[in-house]
Amino acid sequence: MAARFVGAPLACGELVEPPAPPARGFTLASTRSLVLCCCVNLSRTIVCALLAATAAGAAPLRIVTTFYPLHIAALNITSNAPNVSVINLTPPTSGCLHDYQLTPADLARLIHADVLIVNGGGLEAFLDKARRQAPRAKVIEASAGIELLEGNPHVWVSPELAARQAETIGAGLARLDAPNAELYRRNAAAYAAQLRAQAEKMRAGLKGIASRNIITLHEAFPYFAREFGFNIAAVVEREPGAAPGARELADTIALVREKKVRALFVEPQYPARSAEVIARATGAQIAVLDPAVTGPVAAGAYLQIMEKNLAELQRVLK
Ligand SMILES: [Zn+2]
Repeated sequence: MAARFVGAPLACGELVEPPAPPARGFTLASTRSLVLCCCVNLSRTIVCALLAATAAGAAPLRIVTTFYPLHIAALNITSNAPNVSVINLTPPTSGCLHDYQLTPADLARLIHADVLIVNGGGLEAFLDKARRQAPRAKVIEASAGIELLEGNPHVWVSPELAARQAETIGAGLARLDAPNAELYRRNAAAYAAQLRAQAEKMRAGLKGIASRNIITLHEAFPYFAREFGFNIAAVVEREPGAAPGARELADTIALVREKKVRALFVEPQYPARSAEVIARATGAQIAVLDPAVTGPVAAGAYLQIMEKNLAELQRVLK
């Protein structure tokens, strides 16, 4: 993989501006075509040599993604792309970015971004601030064109919609970095095909399940549930970490009994205390469903997370 992980970790509370990189005044496309134009005119050999040197040492295209699942998608789509760097704005342990406040270290990573890949749909509440910090960065909104369910931004949790996001990111990068356009399109198509194959495998693997009512910890799974034919009977916490009150807990317990819910799905990123209370009161099992917002920085990570989700759903519901 030619795309590199760059950006040294910074001490918390410290705003460090990386040394100013050479300006990326020309896009790679314009630089390379200028080299060609000049090279046909032999009387300008010196100019030609100068521009060729500029092209060879051109600053890399700096791509910044806002959070983990987009980082994984971008690593796939930029695989083997020359002169491209991909970094993630937020630490891979940040999880969903609800109410996330950019740290000075995050802001320092934004300063020299050429391209900012965002989920959109209201997930990145800090986006205005981010845009001010990186005014020349071109923004690719991965959820563009996807119809959102009641303003819920968790589209990436559905592998089918993650495939759509990959295609949107691929098309956006192809538009912004013409020399690598064909590679981005090819990579995006290949990754989208892997995601759709995974979705197909999951649909087949979950076909025989009769128990379709599930309870999840936060609002991350409506697209996932729709894709695989589950009904989210209740959500324990409207926002992750916002513990439900006694009344809400009692209502959820009544619902679990009434709908014969067999499993409460918690997320590896958040504590399961409220779910444990419900499980103790009802006998429902606790299982883990991963919304793919944290994990290893590896191209295959999202697919592996979905593979685990499939196994967990089969384990508790079959
Ligand atoms: Zn979320």
